[in-house]
Amino acid sequence: MKPRVVILATGGTIAGISHAPAQAGYASGQVTIRQMIQSVPDLDHLAVVTGEQISNVGSQDISFDILKRLTGRINALLEQADIHGIVVTHGTDTMEETAFFLNLTVNSPKPVVVTGAMRPANAISADGPLNLFNAVAVAADSDAQERGVLVVMNDRIHGAHSLTKTNTTSVETFLSPVNGLVGTVNYGKTVYFRFPFRRHTFLSRFSDLFCTQSRVMLPRVDIVYACIDMPPDLMDCCVASGAQGIVIAGDGNGNMNQATVKKAARMAGRGVFIVRSSRVPTGTVGRNVEVDDDACGFIVSDELNPAKARILLMLALTEKPDLKTVQQLFYTY
Ligand code: GLU
Repeated sequence: MKPRVVILATGGTIAGISHAPAQAGYASGQVTIRQMIQSVPDLDHLAVVTGEQISNVGSQDISFDILKRLTGRINALLEQADIHGIVVTHGTDTMEETAFFLNLTVNSPKPVVVTGAMRPANAISADGPLNLFNAVAVAADSDAQERGVLVVMNDRIHGAHSLTKTNTTSVETFLSPVNGLVGTVNYGKTVYFRFPFRRHTFLSRFSDLFCTQSRVMLPRVDIVYACIDMPPDLMDCCVASGAQGIVIAGDGNGNMNQATVKKAARMAGRGVFIVRSSRVPTGTVGRNVEVDDDACGFIVSDELNPAKARILLMLALTEKPDLKTVQQLFYTY
């Protein structure tokens, strides 16, 4: 019997229509899930595919309300014995954030695969149909189980923890620079290299947060970008606006100027969670390298970039944790 895969559509360029096939200008979120499924030949050879529209927005407009709905729906669908896997179609701008959020909040070992496109549906050499074909192939594949949330783009299978968008327009935009790929998929043929070693999905401590009609409120966490002569009072603005945590997109190994270190340490002393991440696209941020994290009361993001570090901190703060616990979470997830 053919596996059953449900596609949950959220919008993005894969559902976008350009003003003309050879023009950069386009509007995302125009094509419905029905039209998208019809546009991919032989999808029905891989699986019995059905679709649902969760939202239809460019991924710059994805909100935590949409994400809570999405993860709640995925958890409900995957409880059904006859559903083998889920594909989420999504814009590429914030795809890594959604994939990481789902990686922490989905409550099942079954495959959940996020995909999208860099070129609109009617552009020359649109990449969406083959990405969708490959994503359904992975979602229908039993070997994709227990690997956490995966992102399939341009024949690559990425783990949600590791991938990042590296190019504004190229179809080869996603890389997993620190840990490498989970596998590859070529016209539906999958090859796996590894299981992601960070904790995820059915083993995540956050996997019960959004199981049903959850009303969990996520606390505000802001990101501040470090640069030469960085003004430390940006952080005052975050806290005055209700942020319980601040992620610093630091220079290099999570650095910031002395004035910012002092200000951030004073804030940490008053209970604001300060996470040092990096504005550099690849590498990890280590504890107590140039900044005395122990003395300042800071947390380091390890491999997580600022956008993903923010998501982990938001989820962590729902548990009212201490500093040590939060640091441990950054080494675990
Ligand atoms: N801003 C669009 C989005 O993220 C463009 C990116 C894309 O889907 O390729 O939805």
